[in-house]
This record gives sequence, structure tokens and C-alpha cells, in this order.
Amino acid sequence: LCVRPTSETLFCEHYAKIVRSWRDLPKLYNQWCSVIRWEKTTRPFLRSREFWWQEGHTVHATAEEAMQETLRMLNIYAKFFEEWLAIPVVKGEKTPKERFAGAENTYTIEAMMHDCKALQSGTSHYFGDGFARAFGMQYTDKNNTLQYMYQTSWGVSTRIIGAIIMTHGDNEGLVLPPRIAPTQLVVIPVAAHKEGVKEKAAELYEQVKAAGIRAKIDLSDNTPGWKFAEYEMKGIPLRLEVGPRDIAEGQCVLVRRDTREKTVVKFEDLEKTIPALLDDIQKSLYEKALANREAHTYTATSLDEMKSILAEHTGFIKSMWCGDQACEEKIKEETGMPSRCIPFEQEHIADTCPVCGKKADKMVVWGIAY
Ligand SMILES: [Zn+2]
Repeated sequence: LCVRPTSETLFCEHYAKIVRSWRDLPKLYNQWCSVIRWEKTTRPFLRSREFWWQEGHTVHATAEEAMQETLRMLNIYAKFFEEWLAIPVVKGEKTPKERFAGAENTYTIEAMMHDCKALQSGTSHYFGDGFARAFGMQYTDKNNTLQYMYQTSWGVSTRIIGAIIMTHGDNEGLVLPPRIAPTQLVVIPVAAHKEGVKEKAAELYEQVKAAGIRAKIDLSDNTPGWKFAEYEMKGIPLRLEVGPRDIAEGQCVLVRRDTREKTVVKFEDLEKTIPALLDDIQKSLYEKALANREAHTYTATSLDEMKSILAEHTGFIKSMWCGDQACEEKIKEETGMPSRCIPFEQEHIADTCPVCGKKADKMVVWGIAY
């Protein structure tokens, strides 16, 4: 076991040693490691004492370049969440109070789980030259003058697995977005003891696999009902059922995990129908999650209004904020909601801060978080 300070400080020592001139910049490192945090209250996947994460660290010659990198990575995380995990996110900047220690700006993607609580899902930090000055991270520029470097770091963790479970799952178990599902389709023979059924199922399995679908077949002696429940629990996006009557008609049945909708498909159409259905599942999981977020996002213009919304609902509350930390703390104290972020996509909800009544031009999203 190795106890270490936050990795920025380790990278600073490293940069100070290896960067001499502008020719050495920029530097980019990516590392995957496990970390331990002494959490009092743990929650599987979302908040655990030991977890894995991915962290990136970069150092640049100029502030502009470092800021570009910070936002580029935030956008990559957002794209990964939305396009691969089918989880919509709110992109924005953290308030100074919620920033990572030492960062000049912390940017975040915030997701809403199906129980309407927020999950901070990834962050990207711009450090300016603060650490560089503390650690003596200097380089000589093109004019042979000593300059400080500009630094970023960004990360996501195994918390993402929790986000997938908590965004898409239902009472039957996991629901996995097809793009990341290790198995996208399971073939299950029905009335498998009848002649030729297992053979046909195996043949279809090979056909589907050859078409590039990540597939699995279950030829065990468990009943079809048991198998249906088993693979629903595991979140496999599609199941292919085939029985003696289907075989006689040259067709099989595809059942979606998300809606349980059935589609009868001719054997020769499987290569076309399966990818189309997987795409559709991917899209509808995203749309369902987005609809849930929109249905549970409220706006408030006063602290009392915030409290009365929270008395009946869980969700995001959008309000204006004057920028004063005392007002932010008051909202957290009285409602239990920390600020999630100052979204890039701003709306004008009111002219004044809901706490102090002074002029406010920033819109903040608030929410109870995991
Ligand atoms: Zn205020």
C-alpha cells in the first residue's frame, strides 16, 4: 500500500525535472490507477473507499493552450457519456466553492440518475500557473526567457458503472446501452428438445456473430423462462428466440430489453434488423434519460420556492445567483442542495439572486447529489 498526495503534486515534481525548453512542451500523460479515500458513507460504485480512475495530466507553454485542453477533455467526456453511455449531461463550470483545490477553474459534467439525484460524472481542471509557481516548473521560451508552465488535469472513475446502472436500470435489473454492452444479443432456443431447434439456434448464432454482433447462445437445460429472466437481469439489449414453429416459417423473434417489444424477423433479414434495433435502443435510452431529466428540472426565483419544490420533488433546480458564496452556502444549508454547476447553456430566469435579492446574472443548477 502506498500513501501518496494528490497526483498533481507528483506530476509537478516530474514536470519540473523533465521540461527544460519550449521544445519539450506540451506534455500529456494518462494514467489508470486505484485510489483510496476515507469515505464515511459508502455506496456501491458511486462512492467507495477504493476505486479505479482514469486521470489525465497535461502541461503547456501558454494559458490559452491549457484552457483549450481543459475544455477539449470536458467535451470528450460529455460526448462519451451521451453517445456511448446514453446518459445526457449538463456541462458547466463549478462555483469557486466546489472547485478542486488549487484549480483556477473546474469544469464538470453532471448527470441525473433515474431517482432524480445528481451524479458528478467527470471533471476537468484548469490550474493556470499556480502549481508551476509553487513547484518551480519553468521552461525557456523562444526568446530564451524563463516562463512558468500552465497545467490541466481531468478524470473519470468506476463511478461511471454506477451511472449506467442508476440511469438505465429497472426492477428486472441492468439495462445496458448496446454500444457498450459486452453481449448485445443472446440466442435462446424455445422447445429446444424438439428436433432441429438447437441446431438452428446454433446456426443463427453463427450467422449473427459473423455479422459483427457481440452475441451469446444459451443451450443449457434451464427453461426458456429462466433464461429470459437471467439475461434481462444482465441487461443484454436483445434476445433472439427461436422455436419449432418459427423454424417452419423461416423466422425468429427479437425482444428488446428496454421496452420488451417483439419483432418477428425472417432469418435472411437478421443482419439488417439487429443493428437497426440496437441503434434504436441506444437512442431511446438516451431520450428516456433526457425526458426524465427535463421532467424533473424546476426553476425557482426565491429560497422559499426552492424549499417548496423540494418538499414534493427530487430533481435539479435552476436559479439565478449573485456570485456571493454566502448565498450559495445559505441555499445548501436550507435546502441540502449544493450547487452542481454554472451551465454553459445559460437561461435568464430572473434579475435577482433568490437569497439576497441583489442583481444576479449567472444561472446555477442545484441538486442533491450522490
Ligand atoms: Zn445573493
